[in-house]
This record gives sequence, C-alpha cells and structure tokens, in this order.
Amino acid sequence: MFNVAIDGPAGAGKSTIAKMVAKKLGFTYVDTGSMYRAMALACIRAGLKASDEVEVCKVCEGLDVSLEYDENGAQQVILNGENVNAYIRTEEVGNMTSAIAVYGPVREKLVELQRKLGTKYDVIMDGRDIGTCVLKDAPVKIYLTASSRTRAERRYKELTEKGVDCNLDDIEKDIIDRDYRDMNREISPLKQAEDAILVDSSNMGIDEVVNELVRIIEEAR
Ligand code: C5P
Repeated sequence: MFNVAIDGPAGAGKSTIAKMVAKKLGFTYVDTGSMYRAMALACIRAGLKASDEVEVCKVCEGLDVSLEYDENGAQQVILNGENVNAYIRTEEVGNMTSAIAVYGPVREKLVELQRKLGTKYDVIMDGRDIGTCVLKDAPVKIYLTASSRTRAERRYKELTEKGVDCNLDDIEKDIIDRDYRDMNREISPLKQAEDAILVDSSNMGIDEVVNELVRIIEEAR
C-alpha cells in the first residue's frame, strides 16, 4: 500500500486539503481526529471530566469506534453502532478531545485501528502522530501548518458563516491552548517527523496547497 501521512496543528486545513487530494488521486481519506473526537463525545455523554483518568480510560477501552464512507465518499465515524458525525465538531468536543488524547490506553486502541487501515488501503491519513508513530514508514509525510492567527481567522470565518456568535481572540486562545497540549504531552506529541516536508499555508489558498501536495505525492510515486 502507498500511504501518505499528514500532521499539523489544529485548524491548519489538514482535513479540507487531505480530502481534496485523496479525491484527486484516488486514495482513501482517514481523519484520525474524528476517532479521538468520538471517544471524547462518549466521555462527555457519560458525564466525565477529562481529569478523571481512570474512568476516561475505562470508558474508552470499552468503546467500539469504526469508520464508514457514505455514497459521496465522505467519512462517517461510528461509535457503538451510532453515526456520530453530526456531534463531534463542536468546540466543547474539540477541547475535551485534546485533554483525553494524552492518555495511553485511549491512543493505543485507535493507533491499532489506524495502522490496520493503512495495510488495507492506499490512505491519506491526517492527525498529530501519523508520521511519527502510526505510519512511521509512510513514503510521503507532510507537516501542514499556518500561524495561529491565520488558523483562528479561518475558524472564525467558518463559524460566523454558520451563524455562530464568536470572538476571534477567544478562538485564537483555544487554538494556542490545544496546540500546547498536543505538542507537550508525553505520548506521541505533535511534532514534525524528521523526514516530513513542511508546508506553511499561512499565505496560500486551498487550491495552491492541494496542488503542492499532489505534486509531492506524484513525484514520490
Ligand atoms: O484534528 P482534530 O482537530 O479533529 O483533532 C482533535 C484532537 O484530537 C487534537 O487536538 C488532538 O488532541 C487529538 N488527536 C491526536 N492524535 C491524532 C489526531 C487527533 O491526539 N492522530
């Protein structure tokens, strides 16, 4: 299988870009963040706080998380038989996710599932630890980033377009806090793999980034 690993901080555009590149090149897109989000949703529903480590790990170990693809090829996350795609994109779930993603037992189960997908399909997989842990041998690794302000502005635009009332500075602060947790945790922290290519999208449009990634992948293939 030919696998592509994409890592980077919150809001760098990984999923938008990876989805488009996967479609262009006929790869299966795997959004690993949504798997962690599904686990966080289950913890919120169980009334847990992220700091309840023992309970959080117990609940997560008992969950069944899997992926399906709808007729348009869009990834759906299935949590204990329920499609939870509609519930995992909130700020509450995002913040809970990075807080519970620090626990080893939460990660182990998902890493195993992600590795299996990489042996079955040509995948473009995005997350935080794909190039450094999940798909260490991937022939193409991209580290996609942008300044925290740019990422906050993109998120602000997305939310205001949906009619959600929000504040740019608060969004940037949330993003910086989430990056800090992801980059400073003990297990599989977010960092650029030594053999990853850095793409900074701060001053690039979506199509420009997509074309750059397609070029990098085709060159490697
Ligand atoms: O990419 P997304 O914003 O959906 O990820 C949500 C959170 O899940 C991240 O902030 C990170 O804490 C966690 N995550 C992770 N490892 C991955 C993917 C996501 O720890 N491979």
